Amino acid sequence: MAGFKTHISFSTTLGIGYACGAYAFFDMPWTSCVIAGGLCSVSGMLPDLDSGSGRPIRESMGFAAAVIPMMCLEWFEAVDMPRELMIVSAVGLYLLIRFGLASAITKYTVHRGMFHSVPAAVLAALVVLLLSGGQHTRVDIRLFKAGGVLIGYVSHLMLDELWSLEWRYGLLRRKKSFGTAMKLWGKSLWGNLSVYGKLAAAAMLVGNDTTLLPPSTPARSTTRQSAAPDSGGPDSRPSGDMHREQVEPRQPMADHSPRNFR
Ligand SMILES: [Zn+2]
Repeated sequence: MAGFKTHISFSTTLGIGYACGAYAFFDMPWTSCVIAGGLCSVSGMLPDLDSGSGRPIRESMGFAAAVIPMMCLEWFEAVDMPRELMIVSAVGLYLLIRFGLASAITKYTVHRGMFHSVPAAVLAALVVLLLSGGQHTRVDIRLFKAGGVLIGYVSHLMLDELWSLEWRYGLLRRKKSFGTAMKLWGKSLWGNLSVYGKLAAAAMLVGNDTTLLPPSTPARSTTRQSAAPDSGGPDSRPSGDMHREQVEPRQPMADHSPRNFR
Protein backbone atom coordinates (compact mmCIF):
# COMPACT_ATOMS: atom_id res chain seq x y z
CA MET A 1 0.00 0.00 0.00
CA ALA A 2 1.01 3.57 -0.50
CA GLY A 3 2.75 5.02 2.55
CA PHE A 4 1.92 8.04 4.66
CA LYS A 5 4.35 10.32 2.81
CA THR A 6 3.03 9.29 -0.60
CA HIS A 7 -0.56 9.97 0.42
CA ILE A 8 0.09 13.32 2.06
CA SER A 9 2.36 14.48 -0.81
CA PHE A 10 -0.23 13.56 -3.43
CA SER A 11 -3.20 15.12 -1.62
CA THR A 12 -1.18 18.25 -0.81
CA THR A 13 -0.25 18.65 -4.48
CA LEU A 14 -3.91 18.25 -5.42
CA GLY A 15 -4.91 20.71 -2.69
CA ILE A 16 -2.47 23.35 -3.98
CA GLY A 17 -3.78 22.90 -7.53
CA TYR A 18 -7.40 23.04 -6.30
CA ALA A 19 -6.80 26.21 -4.30
CA CYS A 20 -4.79 27.98 -7.03
CA GLY A 21 -7.33 27.03 -9.71
CA ALA A 22 -10.26 28.33 -7.64
CA TYR A 23 -8.40 31.57 -6.87
CA ALA A 24 -7.36 32.17 -10.47
CA PHE A 25 -10.48 31.13 -12.37
CA PHE A 26 -13.42 31.37 -9.93
CA ASP A 27 -12.50 34.45 -7.84
CA MET A 28 -12.64 32.57 -4.57
CA PRO A 29 -11.28 34.54 -1.56
CA TRP A 30 -7.67 33.55 -0.87
CA THR A 31 -8.49 32.62 2.73
CA SER A 32 -11.14 30.13 1.54
CA CYS A 33 -8.60 28.77 -0.95
CA VAL A 34 -6.06 28.20 1.82
CA ILE A 35 -8.65 26.39 3.97
CA ALA A 36 -10.01 24.27 1.09
CA GLY A 37 -6.48 23.36 -0.04
CA GLY A 38 -5.54 22.46 3.54
CA LEU A 39 -8.65 20.32 3.95
CA CYS A 40 -7.81 18.51 0.71
CA SER A 41 -4.28 17.87 1.97
CA VAL A 42 -5.37 16.52 5.38
CA SER A 43 -8.20 14.45 3.89
CA GLY A 44 -5.57 12.52 1.97
CA MET A 45 -4.66 10.71 5.19
CA LEU A 46 -8.14 10.36 6.71
CA PRO A 47 -8.88 6.82 5.42
CA ASP A 48 -5.77 5.49 7.17
CA LEU A 49 -7.21 6.50 10.53
CA ASP A 50 -8.29 2.86 10.67
CA SER A 51 -4.74 1.59 10.22
CA GLY A 52 -3.92 1.65 13.94
CA SER A 53 -0.63 3.32 13.01
CA GLY A 54 0.09 6.36 15.17
CA ARG A 55 1.00 8.97 12.60
CA PRO A 56 -2.22 9.36 10.55
CA ILE A 57 -4.28 9.37 13.75
CA ARG A 58 -2.01 11.85 15.50
CA GLU A 59 -1.70 14.28 12.58
CA SER A 60 -5.29 14.27 11.36
CA MET A 61 -6.91 14.23 14.80
CA GLY A 62 -4.67 17.11 15.88
CA PHE A 63 -5.69 19.09 12.79
CA ALA A 64 -9.40 18.22 13.17
CA ALA A 65 -9.36 19.09 16.89
CA ALA A 66 -7.92 22.52 16.10
CA VAL A 67 -10.02 23.34 13.03
CA ILE A 68 -13.49 21.91 13.81
CA PRO A 69 -14.13 24.12 16.90
CA MET A 70 -13.22 27.18 14.80
CA MET A 71 -15.57 26.03 12.04
CA CYS A 72 -18.34 25.80 14.64
CA LEU A 73 -17.95 29.44 15.76
CA GLU A 74 -20.58 30.71 13.33
CA TRP A 75 -23.04 28.14 14.63
CA PHE A 76 -22.31 29.20 18.20
CA GLU A 77 -23.02 32.81 17.21
CA ALA A 78 -26.24 31.77 15.44
CA VAL A 79 -27.71 30.56 18.74
CA ASP A 80 -26.47 33.68 20.61
CA MET A 81 -24.08 31.70 22.74
CA PRO A 82 -22.22 33.86 25.32
CA ARG A 83 -18.52 34.38 24.55
CA GLU A 84 -17.25 32.43 27.56
CA LEU A 85 -19.53 29.49 26.77
CA MET A 86 -18.11 29.54 23.23
CA ILE A 87 -14.59 29.15 24.64
CA VAL A 88 -15.67 26.33 26.96
CA SER A 89 -17.49 24.58 24.09
CA ALA A 90 -14.49 24.95 21.77
CA VAL A 91 -12.14 23.49 24.40
CA GLY A 92 -14.60 20.63 25.04
CA LEU A 93 -14.77 19.88 21.32
CA TYR A 94 -10.98 19.90 21.09
CA LEU A 95 -10.62 17.37 23.91
CA LEU A 96 -13.46 15.22 22.56
CA ILE A 97 -11.93 15.01 19.08
CA ARG A 98 -8.27 14.86 20.10
CA PHE A 99 -8.67 12.09 22.65
CA GLY A 100 -12.21 10.62 22.67
CA LEU A 101 -12.73 10.31 18.91
CA ALA A 102 -9.13 9.23 18.26
CA SER A 103 -9.28 6.38 20.79
CA ALA A 104 -12.77 5.29 19.61
CA ILE A 105 -11.51 5.08 16.01
CA THR A 106 -8.50 3.05 17.08
CA LYS A 107 -10.67 0.71 19.13
CA TYR A 108 -13.65 0.12 16.85
CA THR A 109 -12.23 0.14 13.33
CA VAL A 110 -10.34 -2.42 11.27
CA HIS A 111 -7.85 -1.57 8.55
CA ARG A 112 -9.36 -1.39 5.06
CA GLY A 113 -12.83 -1.45 6.58
CA MET A 114 -15.44 1.13 5.68
CA PHE A 115 -13.07 4.04 6.34
CA HIS A 116 -11.67 2.99 2.98
CA SER A 117 -14.85 3.43 0.97
CA VAL A 118 -16.64 5.87 -1.31
CA PRO A 119 -19.59 6.47 1.10
CA ALA A 120 -17.08 7.40 3.84
CA ALA A 121 -15.53 9.97 1.47
CA VAL A 122 -18.97 11.47 0.75
CA LEU A 123 -19.78 11.46 4.49
CA ALA A 124 -16.58 13.38 5.31
CA ALA A 125 -17.46 15.97 2.63
CA LEU A 126 -21.04 16.35 3.95
CA VAL A 127 -19.77 16.86 7.51
CA VAL A 128 -17.52 19.68 6.33
CA LEU A 129 -20.37 21.15 4.25
CA LEU A 130 -22.52 21.28 7.40
CA LEU A 131 -19.79 22.63 9.67
CA SER A 132 -18.14 25.11 7.34
CA GLY A 133 -20.50 27.99 7.94
CA GLY A 134 -24.01 29.20 8.50
CA GLN A 135 -26.18 31.91 7.03
CA HIS A 136 -23.27 34.36 6.75
CA THR A 137 -21.11 32.08 4.61
CA ARG A 138 -21.59 31.81 0.85
CA VAL A 139 -22.96 28.46 -0.25
CA ASP A 140 -20.41 28.16 -3.07
CA ILE A 141 -17.58 28.59 -0.53
CA ARG A 142 -19.04 25.83 1.66
CA LEU A 143 -19.34 23.56 -1.39
CA PHE A 144 -15.78 24.48 -2.37
CA LYS A 145 -14.42 23.37 1.02
CA ALA A 146 -16.48 20.16 0.98
CA GLY A 147 -15.13 19.51 -2.52
CA GLY A 148 -11.58 19.80 -1.17
CA VAL A 149 -12.31 17.07 1.38
CA LEU A 150 -13.88 14.81 -1.24
CA ILE A 151 -10.90 15.20 -3.62
CA GLY A 152 -8.34 14.54 -0.88
CA TYR A 153 -10.19 11.52 0.49
CA VAL A 154 -10.79 9.95 -2.94
CA SER A 155 -7.15 10.57 -3.90
CA HIS A 156 -6.15 8.29 -1.02
CA LEU A 157 -8.53 5.54 -2.14
CA MET A 158 -7.26 5.79 -5.72
CA LEU A 159 -3.61 5.57 -4.65
CA ASP A 160 -4.37 2.51 -2.50
CA GLU A 161 -6.00 0.81 -5.48
CA LEU A 162 -3.08 1.70 -7.75
CA TRP A 163 -0.66 0.27 -5.19
CA SER A 164 -2.72 -2.93 -5.26
CA LEU A 165 -1.42 -3.63 -8.75
CA GLU A 166 2.03 -4.99 -9.51
CA TRP A 167 4.08 -6.10 -12.47
CA ARG A 168 5.13 -9.76 -12.25
CA TYR A 169 6.65 -11.79 -15.08
CA GLY A 170 5.76 -9.00 -17.49
CA LEU A 171 2.09 -9.06 -16.52
CA LEU A 172 0.02 -6.62 -14.50
CA ARG A 173 -1.36 -8.56 -11.56
CA ARG A 174 -3.71 -7.74 -8.69
CA LYS A 175 -2.62 -8.07 -5.10
CA LYS A 176 -4.96 -9.42 -2.41
CA SER A 177 -5.75 -5.87 -1.33
CA PHE A 178 -7.18 -4.91 -4.75
CA GLY A 179 -10.76 -3.64 -4.44
CA THR A 180 -10.60 -3.03 -0.69
CA ALA A 181 -10.15 0.74 -0.92
CA MET A 182 -12.42 2.14 -3.64
CA LYS A 183 -15.52 0.23 -2.61
CA LEU A 184 -19.17 0.92 -1.92
CA TRP A 185 -19.58 -1.61 0.88
CA GLY A 186 -17.42 -3.98 2.89
CA LYS A 187 -17.64 -7.43 4.43
CA SER A 188 -18.81 -6.28 7.85
CA LEU A 189 -22.56 -5.77 8.12
CA TRP A 190 -22.11 -3.55 11.16
CA GLY A 191 -19.53 -1.42 9.29
CA ASN A 192 -21.87 -1.00 6.32
CA LEU A 193 -24.84 -0.09 8.51
CA SER A 194 -22.73 2.33 10.51
CA VAL A 195 -21.42 4.25 7.48
CA TYR A 196 -24.66 4.28 5.51
CA GLY A 197 -26.65 5.24 8.63
CA LYS A 198 -24.35 8.20 9.26
CA LEU A 199 -24.46 9.11 5.57
CA ALA A 200 -28.27 9.12 5.60
CA ALA A 201 -28.32 11.27 8.76
CA ALA A 202 -25.82 13.74 7.26
CA ALA A 203 -27.79 13.89 3.98
CA MET A 204 -30.98 14.59 5.94
CA LEU A 205 -29.28 17.41 7.86
CA VAL A 206 -27.99 18.90 4.60
CA GLY A 207 -31.48 18.64 3.08
CA ASN A 208 -32.97 20.48 6.06
CA ASP A 209 -30.23 23.12 6.28
CA THR A 210 -31.99 26.30 5.17
CA THR A 211 -28.68 28.17 5.07
CA LEU A 212 -27.79 26.08 2.02
CA LEU A 213 -30.75 27.39 0.00
CA PRO A 214 -29.83 29.47 -3.06
CA PRO A 215 -29.72 33.18 -2.09
CA SER A 216 -31.86 34.21 -5.10
CA THR A 217 -35.09 32.83 -3.57
CA PRO A 218 -35.51 35.28 -0.66
CA ALA A 219 -34.03 38.19 -2.68
CA ARG A 220 -36.61 37.81 -5.47
CA SER A 221 -39.58 37.59 -3.13
CA THR A 222 -38.40 40.71 -1.27
CA THR A 223 -38.22 42.69 -4.52
CA ARG A 224 -41.68 41.62 -5.56
CA GLN A 225 -43.13 42.50 -2.18
CA SER A 226 -41.51 45.91 -2.19
CA ALA A 227 -42.52 46.67 -5.80
CA ALA A 228 -46.23 46.36 -5.15
CA PRO A 229 -46.60 49.13 -2.49
CA ASP A 230 -44.77 51.60 -4.79
CA SER A 231 -47.85 52.02 -6.90
CA GLY A 232 -49.85 52.96 -3.82
CA GLY A 233 -48.06 56.29 -3.20
CA PRO A 234 -44.86 57.69 -1.75
CA ASP A 235 -45.79 56.97 1.85
CA SER A 236 -45.92 53.25 1.23
CA ARG A 237 -42.41 53.12 -0.23
CA PRO A 238 -39.72 51.43 1.89
CA SER A 239 -37.14 53.81 3.26
CA GLY A 240 -33.93 51.93 2.20
CA ASP A 241 -31.53 53.90 -0.05
CA MET A 242 -30.73 50.87 -2.13
CA HIS A 243 -34.39 50.39 -2.91
CA ARG A 244 -34.74 53.99 -4.12
CA GLU A 245 -31.75 53.62 -6.37
CA GLN A 246 -33.29 50.58 -8.01
CA VAL A 247 -36.82 51.92 -8.45
CA GLU A 248 -36.70 55.69 -9.03
CA PRO A 249 -34.93 55.78 -12.44
CA ARG A 250 -37.64 53.61 -13.91
CA GLN A 251 -40.61 55.78 -12.89
CA PRO A 252 -40.43 58.40 -15.72
CA MET A 253 -40.65 55.63 -18.31
CA ALA A 254 -44.14 54.64 -17.07
CA ASP A 255 -43.36 51.18 -18.25
CA HIS A 256 -45.32 48.51 -16.42
CA SER A 257 -43.87 45.61 -18.28
CA PRO A 258 -42.92 42.50 -16.22
CA ARG A 259 -39.19 43.30 -16.32
CA ASN A 260 -39.73 46.08 -13.72
CA PHE A 261 -40.59 43.40 -11.26
CA ARG A 262 -37.47 41.31 -11.73
ZN1 LIG B 1 -5.18 3.56 2.93
